[in-house]
Amino acid sequence: MADCVFCGIAEGRIPATTVRQDRDTVAFRDLNPQAPTHILVIPRRHIASVADTDRSDTGVLGAVLAVAVEVAAAEGLDQSGYRLVINHGADGGQSVGHLHVHLLGGRPMTWPPG
Ligand code: 5GP
Ligand code: ZN
Repeated sequence: MADCVFCGIAEGRIPATTVRQDRDTVAFRDLNPQAPTHILVIPRRHIASVADTDRSDTGVLGAVLAVAVEVAAAEGLDQSGYRLVINHGADGGQSVGHLHVHLLGGRPMTWPPG
């Protein structure tokens, strides 16, 4: 989608600090990090929200999660721990309408989240 910032990052039209990419996914550092490590993993294909997926999307959903786990290990977080987050809609705190998994780590997380 032309007006989607994360499609722009996936297509290289908008700059980002990319840490990993493959045919189906791109992982890049969040512009406004909420933890020492804050990386977003997105599908290259525009999907507005996790709520727009179903069982036919298990491939891409599995890919973004698997990449998040790989990137977490590459960032040295697998021993200390980390959090994966997907926000949906207004109450979920979603601000960018392109599905993304947050990888947060490098500090203790609190529960419940705000
Ligand atoms: P959401 O609130 O939708 O779950 O998360 C969106 C995230 O995208 C936020 O953490 C925000 O800082 C990040 N973000 C928004 N615009 C950009 C951008 O242009 N580049 C990067 N790298 N991150 C962005
Ligand atoms: Zn998009």
